[in-house]
Amino acid sequence: MAVLDTSALLHWPIERCRGQVVSILQQTELSRVDEQRWMLIETLDMEWRTATTDERQVVLDLAAKTGDLPRLSDVDIDLLALAIANQTSLVTDDYRMKNVAREAGIDVEGVMTDGGKQQWKWILRCIGCRQTEEVSSEASRSKKDDVKVCDRCGSPMKLKRA
Ligand SMILES: [Zn+2]
Repeated sequence: MAVLDTSALLHWPIERCRGQVVSILQQTELSRVDEQRWMLIETLDMEWRTATTDERQVVLDLAAKTGDLPRLSDVDIDLLALAIANQTSLVTDDYRMKNVAREAGIDVEGVMTDGGKQQWKWILRCIGCRQTEEVSSEASRSKKDDVKVCDRCGSPMKLKRA
């Protein structure tokens, strides 16, 4: 079980959201950002909660210490408080929330960096004529940045994100 921030609710596969902890304060946010997604999320069995004043105070104190407090929203504070109170991990890509979560000793999981489906695809691109080609299996094992030389103009080819 983990606490999901709103970007996780928006981007995770719907089945993966099921049963996770979410803040009641996110309902308004989500319905404003993506009405259709909200209607879908609403049908799921999820742990809709909100933190107590004491639980939020823990976050306020930590965030004041790290300097992140001025930029945290009410939703952010509620989510952090829920993760700390329940000792569950927090799923977010927000660096301020990550920072406070780490200060609290809470595990943080990225929204877009998990599950292996979000891996980058690499291609080779010539620095001269810009010709691109697929990365061959032996090129991927090369330690050097210059993987090979362009067949067309002889300039080095570099790995780029497709
Ligand atoms: Zn070239």
